[in-house]
Amino acid sequence: MTNICVIGAGHVGLVTGACFAELGNSVICMDDDVKKIEGLKNDVLPFYEPGLEVMVVQNKRAGRLSFTHSLEDSIAGSNIIFVAVGTPQKSNGEADLTSIENVARRIACALDGYKLIVEKSTVPIKTGDWIHKTIKLNCKKGVEFDIASNPEFLREGTAVHDFMQPDRIVLGVESERAARLLIELYKPIHAPVVRTNVKTAELIKHASNSFLALKISYINAISNICEKTGADVLKVAEGMGYDKRIGKDFLNAGVGYGGYCLPKDISAFIKMAEEIGYDFELLKAVQRVNNYQRQQIVRKAKDALWNLQGKTVGILGLAFKPDTDDMRESPSMYIIRELQKQEVLIKAYDPQAMDTAKNFLQDVEYCQNPYEAASGSDALIFLTEWDEFKNLDFVKIKRLLKQPIIIDGRNIFDPLTMKEHGLTYFGIGR
Ligand code: NAD
Repeated sequence: MTNICVIGAGHVGLVTGACFAELGNSVICMDDDVKKIEGLKNDVLPFYEPGLEVMVVQNKRAGRLSFTHSLEDSIAGSNIIFVAVGTPQKSNGEADLTSIENVARRIACALDGYKLIVEKSTVPIKTGDWIHKTIKLNCKKGVEFDIASNPEFLREGTAVHDFMQPDRIVLGVESERAARLLIELYKPIHAPVVRTNVKTAELIKHASNSFLALKISYINAISNICEKTGADVLKVAEGMGYDKRIGKDFLNAGVGYGGYCLPKDISAFIKMAEEIGYDFELLKAVQRVNNYQRQQIVRKAKDALWNLQGKTVGILGLAFKPDTDDMRESPSMYIIRELQKQEVLIKAYDPQAMDTAKNFLQDVEYCQNPYEAASGSDALIFLTEWDEFKNLDFVKIKRLLKQPIIIDGRNIFDPLTMKEHGLTYFGIGR
């Protein structure tokens, strides 16, 4: 059993804390958002993530998981400190590392004996060096510590599963002591361990996320070729995906990637490359394709509806992906705002993300179910592939819609079935 402290109780920190507690460790999660911590003390989770609530509550009851907003209290009895605070994007695209620096200073002041400080947040290469320098400058003389990088690869919506059954565990360490502590901690999780130095571990995370974004933009680019030639992108992806060198995942053409990670991590990687004198043109193209893909939906709406002004559009799906209520950088925000600029009235429904969406999107009529969003709308646009949408009653939807138009931004439906229902269907790349 290890005493662990996790700083930042967000999507990564809370899952990390709960999972390590589930594995029998004693975990204290710290966050400077007092409301979040008070909520967690009362079993109220700050976001929706399947399976997490039960795990948090059970581990709290078992005395293995607790919450605080005092950083000093949280690290006092801990051997390993995971830093999982946010690393948002600055207006120039760089990663904003002020929270990381702030936490490093405070850890330094509170250090009273050896601790292992682990970067869990996604950070640019060399951040570990900066954390080391900052702690060294601010801690008591002679206090020992190590810095490690253990990037997180979980996906929102399947975060608990991904944490407990990862494809790999990356450990960036600079000492045997740090390596031993992390290897011991991760022993119950069976996955290949990639042991390397801190800088390489930092780069593995950025290189992985960029590659995933590249794969998405690649198939989206192919979808545009398909639309202009009559080929079907689903079949192209299937034909490509059987090739083991390519693989099936992340080959779903659609409205482009979004969420808290890919957009900001790609920008940060481009910026970081620029700083060291490399123009990462490949990733700039990935971003361009992604933006184009969002615009495609607005173009399709225009093609289908002629004049957009004064039309009503039902949007099904607001979250950037299913099984989360996370709206950060969701393509739906861009698409809805673009439609609103053209004076389209928006009715929207999402199984989980409507409360969060209210913080980001104004003048939207939020509906109780998909049928209410369809009712009286000139078109229905699908932007998130929630399971709930897969078995909708399209006879009813056709009756409710003012015009029988479906724009399927996630290729959820079969075009022929839609046609049989008398619906005019627009998919992506088919
Ligand atoms: P989040 O916004 O959900 O959580 C970050 C938390 O840190 C917030 O609760 C915030 O209050 C807290 N925080 C910020 N500054 C703090 C400070 N100085 N002291 C204490 N708490 C502080 O973010 P997240 O999605 O959990 O992401 C965290 C990091 O993990 C980011 O670097 C992100 O890129 C990376 N990451 C995210 C995911 C994901 O799917 N969300 C996956 C892998 C990696």
